[in-house]
Amino acid sequence: MTEHPDILQRVRRTPTTLADGRELIYFDDSEPYLSGATSRAAVDERPLDVRPTAGTMRLDALTGDWVSIADHRQNRTFLPPAGECPLCPTGGGTMPSEIPAHEYDVVVFENRFPSFASGSADTGSADTGSADTGSGGTGSTSSGATANPLLAHAPALGRCEVVCFTSDHGASFSSLSPTRARTVVDVWADRTSELSALDAVEHVFPFENRGEEIGVTLHHPHGQIYAYPFIPARTASLLRAATEHHQRTGRLLGADLLAAELDAGSRVVIRGTHWTAYVPYAAAWPVEVHLVPNRDVPDLVALASAERDELAEVYLDLLRRLDRYYEGPDGSPIALPYIAGWHQAPVHQGRDVSRLHLQVMSVLRAPGRLKYLAGSESGVGAWVNDVAPERVAARLRELG
Ligand SMILES: [Zn+2]
Repeated sequence: MTEHPDILQRVRRTPTTLADGRELIYFDDSEPYLSGATSRAAVDERPLDVRPTAGTMRLDALTGDWVSIADHRQNRTFLPPAGECPLCPTGGGTMPSEIPAHEYDVVVFENRFPSFASGSADTGSADTGSADTGSGGTGSTSSGATANPLLAHAPALGRCEVVCFTSDHGASFSSLSPTRARTVVDVWADRTSELSALDAVEHVFPFENRGEEIGVTLHHPHGQIYAYPFIPARTASLLRAATEHHQRTGRLLGADLLAAELDAGSRVVIRGTHWTAYVPYAAAWPVEVHLVPNRDVPDLVALASAERDELAEVYLDLLRRLDRYYEGPDGSPIALPYIAGWHQAPVHQGRDVSRLHLQVMSVLRAPGRLKYLAGSESGVGAWVNDVAPERVAARLRELG
């Protein structure tokens, strides 16, 4: 009997629709849902308003960067009590949640308060002009009555999704089982593939914000995925450097940088068969680690099964080290507030020069002391880091 890999699936994917029309997808890696013995039939019975359509983004003529103006986000849920967590399964708390089911493994749904969404509500007001969407253009611009090219706008098309890593409110990514972390890797790849296929989308960025210090509004372990209708500023600068390196040398910048870090050795934290974690040579944040595949891979979709398996293990290892990086006065570990973001090749540009990497960074520069992005960083984007990257790497190695 021959078995196609897809038949030996490790995750069952079940899409459904919430009361306001938003999409929700269950990714089940355990029984009774994985085999299909029980199906996902729960219905969202909340009386929700109609789903939000795309807001507006405006072009900052001074920098050429797009800014999404999402004032509806001011009303979003802010640190609700645990019984009212919108990311817990329905039935546990006092309020029906975003997830109609009474239990789940991993679930993805469209953000109720998105910065980017499908459908257009961008009518173009009198003080806005037509937009030239530049290199990452949407091709769906609109004109206002008094077209001033310096006041350009466009519908903030795209999609924002929430990824719940587990139904366990008190867990964290670092406490997930390797099996569950592996499911999240598959989910990131699935969403990258699907979101990349949407009309307006130019870039897909899966990320996790963890900790109140960096503005997390919900404690439930979750990440987000933004699908942008343009190439964001940092992505554009990564792409520019990679393109220049490729034109000059014919090689991939990410691959040459990995070779240079391995050669230097002093900043390497974890060296696996398929993945390497290192503190970058010019780390900008007090704690910053890059996790890169050893093979040239443009995005999460292109990762082979063995690479996904090891990614789950290496990422958990890295996060567990980060959660012991600082200790409180009594010697107990301090859960590190962090931002973790996947830099992937943009959807339509530079796919031949881009190389996938995960950037994990923290603003915590000592227990109880945050680095503020102040004058130099916020004003002109010139970073000052008080901590030598080699010291960070040595500490992370020692925690292994
Ligand atoms: Zn919760």
